Amino acid sequence: MAMLLAWPALACAFAAPHPGTDEPTSTRAAAFDATLRKVTGPESLDSSSDAYDADLERLRALLPADDPARDVRFRSVYCGSSKWKDIERGLEYSDTALKLARDARDPASEARAILCRTNYIQLTSGTQRGLPEVEKAIALLQEGQEPQLLAEALEMRGDLLSLLGEQAKAMLDFQRARAAYRQAGIDREVEPLMLSMAVAYRRMGDSEQAERLIRAALQRMQDRNDWEGVATYLIQLGFLQGESGSQDKAFATFREAERVARQHGDAYNRNAAMLGLAEAQIALGDPDGALAMLAQARAGFAADRDTSNDDMLLMLTGQALARQGQHTAAMERYRQALPLIERNGNDRYLAMLYKAQAASQEALGWTASALSDYKRYADLQLKLQGKMRLEQGRMLEYEYEIRRRDFENRQLRAEADSKQQEVATLEAVRRWQSLAIVLAALFVALLSSLAWRQWRKSRHLRDLTLLDPLTGIANRPGIEREAARALDASARNGTPLSLLMLDLDHFKSINDRYGHAAGDKVLRATAAVWQAQLRGRDPLGRIGGEEFVVVCPDTTLEQALLVAGRLREAAHGLRFDDIDPTLAVSVSIGAAQARKSGDSCDALIDRADAALYRAKQQGRDRVES
Ligand code: GH3
Ligand code: MG
Ligand code: MG
Repeated sequence: MAMLLAWPALACAFAAPHPGTDEPTSTRAAAFDATLRKVTGPESLDSSSDAYDADLERLRALLPADDPARDVRFRSVYCGSSKWKDIERGLEYSDTALKLARDARDPASEARAILCRTNYIQLTSGTQRGLPEVEKAIALLQEGQEPQLLAEALEMRGDLLSLLGEQAKAMLDFQRARAAYRQAGIDREVEPLMLSMAVAYRRMGDSEQAERLIRAALQRMQDRNDWEGVATYLIQLGFLQGESGSQDKAFATFREAERVARQHGDAYNRNAAMLGLAEAQIALGDPDGALAMLAQARAGFAADRDTSNDDMLLMLTGQALARQGQHTAAMERYRQALPLIERNGNDRYLAMLYKAQAASQEALGWTASALSDYKRYADLQLKLQGKMRLEQGRMLEYEYEIRRRDFENRQLRAEADSKQQEVATLEAVRRWQSLAIVLAALFVALLSSLAWRQWRKSRHLRDLTLLDPLTGIANRPGIEREAARALDASARNGTPLSLLMLDLDHFKSINDRYGHAAGDKVLRATAAVWQAQLRGRDPLGRIGGEEFVVVCPDTTLEQALLVAGRLREAAHGLRFDDIDPTLAVSVSIGAAQARKSGDSCDALIDRADAALYRAKQQGRDRVES
């Protein structure tokens, strides 16, 4: 919470870390690492801004001198300190942190620095500018090396998408963030994420879901005596009540939020609560009270050098002035608010502005411009409502998709269970049949028929033991038997023989991102598309998790490389729209040909494996021989 919400200033933070003490360097480094884990790990989610900042200062004091790798990590974290109240200096610090992380080839620190820098960019250049930055950070974290950071980045992208009206996409990011938090060992609900989801629901017009989530999070914050959290959630509740027309309730809630924030010295939330109070006062017909409240809020934001609410301040001041009948003064505020709102790309605020502007223009007798602003308001409102419905539809689709996947997974599990049952039954049958054979010796007539059945069933059983239950292709013993047979034939007839070793690239990250069931699905689809490509000429087998072998009888190395190329293409062609339309599969392949002088199965596999290793080394998604 602290990293993304807390704001930022201390000029001397640019200075070098404190000089070393008498402690040995290794103890100091270990203490640094432990503190770093604390500020980037699950604990950081629960710490208040003050506690988090105190940890950052401790970290700064522990940073060992002449340790560039730790320096890089330190800067990417320290970048988020509340000390940086001066946005320009914060931006400058984050630029350096980013450059150092990039030079040190430390993708996690790079991503952290980008996310931190994004906060500053948004404050100086508008919210919309943050999106491409967050995308970069997410791309850097795809390997799954820092699940918590990935979760925070996804949450941030979700927040941005939600602000820009893309609620369904935002929800999808929030779901992914939740999965990534789980991956990081955080099993409980993460409150800021609950809040983000609540806000998205609110913007989608689903106030019931929104209120449920906000109240749950509020309760947790109260239980934990986290007053900053309490104020944050009260403010959200106030907005929700105001939007659903309960201005009295909204007023009372904002008043409570303001009281909590004031009592606990939480300036940011106090200012935000005053904005909410002013809005409620305007709606309740108290423009004088609203103007006084806005003046206080403006002074508060100015003291924090926070300009991110200037658009709202101007718009609400305009509305209060209009309520007092001062329409010319109101129009002046609206004129100033317009470019700020446009820069942030928030259509809801823009619609509010057009409506307010039209009302004042009408009062001033500027009929033509009033009409055209009403039209703008109506068009935008229509667009927003259409969008809301669209987003609700999309959400339903996503929910359906998630349910369907769940159902499929359960079905697959049931199938696997029944297959195991079948093997067990066959084994029992075989035991009984051994007995039957003894009896059959007495009944010669019966014997032949029983013996025949026995033979068929045991063959079935043997086939099952040579097949991989997941993909239905040969398993390791199965494909090794094929390879041994082919080697024999090749030695006998003097024909060439090649072997391919295939290993899916970064398969672990597919499991990590979409779950084991999705990974299984990818394995099955890959085996099936290769099987179809090979058309039974060259046996295919799965010898380990995501490792496969193809035996190519009568095939020279040159021809085998062509086959390998086709298999590589086939993997590229796979699509998994029900998992993720952007999911792409690639494979690294090693090829080897059996020596004319005769080769053992193991030696041939070893050579193909060595070639595969080179393919991985040289960047994956390629064929080596
Ligand atoms: P590389 O490109 O270097 O090959 O990376 P990788 O992630 O593919 O390789 P790694 O060996 O690190 O990971 C293989 C993963 O495959 C780890 C394991 O969890 C997963 N795996 C193994 N068997 C199965 C399986 O039957 N089903 C699924 N879904 N995953 C499996
Ligand atoms: Mg592997
Ligand atoms: Mg692999």
